[in-house]
Amino acid sequence: MDENCIFCKIIKGEIPSNKVYEDEYVLAFKDLHPVTPVHVLIIPKIHIQDLEHVDETNSVYTQKCQEAFKKVASECGVAESGYRVICNCGEDGGQEVKHLHYHLLGGQKLGTKIVHE
Ligand code: AMP
Ligand code: ZN
Repeated sequence: MDENCIFCKIIKGEIPSNKVYEDEYVLAFKDLHPVTPVHVLIIPKIHIQDLEHVDETNSVYTQKCQEAFKKVASECGVAESGYRVICNCGEDGGQEVKHLHYHLLGGQKLGTKIVHE
C-alpha cells in the first residue's frame, strides 16, 4: 500500500466509496464523476502504479480484475446491453490516479470511436 495514494485509502476505508463489488483481490466502486450512466472503477487491492508495473509477482491481481468485470457488469445491469472497459496508462494515456484502475462504462450507446478526433 502507498500511504499517499487515494485509491489505497479507499481500500483501507479511510476515504468512503460507493462499493459495487469486492473480493480478496479486487475492489469496484462508482466513479465520483461519472461520464456515463454506469461508470465503475475496478482496482486491485494492492498498490500497482499502472500497466507498466504489472509483472509475474502481482498479475494474479490483474487476472482477478479481469474476472470481476462481468460480475460488476451484471451487478450494474449492463451485462446484456454491453459495456466498455478502459485502462489509462501514463502521461499520454491520460492517467490521473497512479493506482492501476479499469473504468467500466455503460448504460448508453458508446459508439465505435475510442479516441477523440
Ligand atoms: P484516470 O484519469 O484514468 O486516472 O481516472 C481517475 C478517475 O478516478 C476519474 O474518473 C475520477 O473521477 C475518479 N476518482 C478520483 N477520486 C475518486 C474517488 N475518491 N472516488 C471515486 N472516484 C474517484
Ligand atoms: Zn494505491
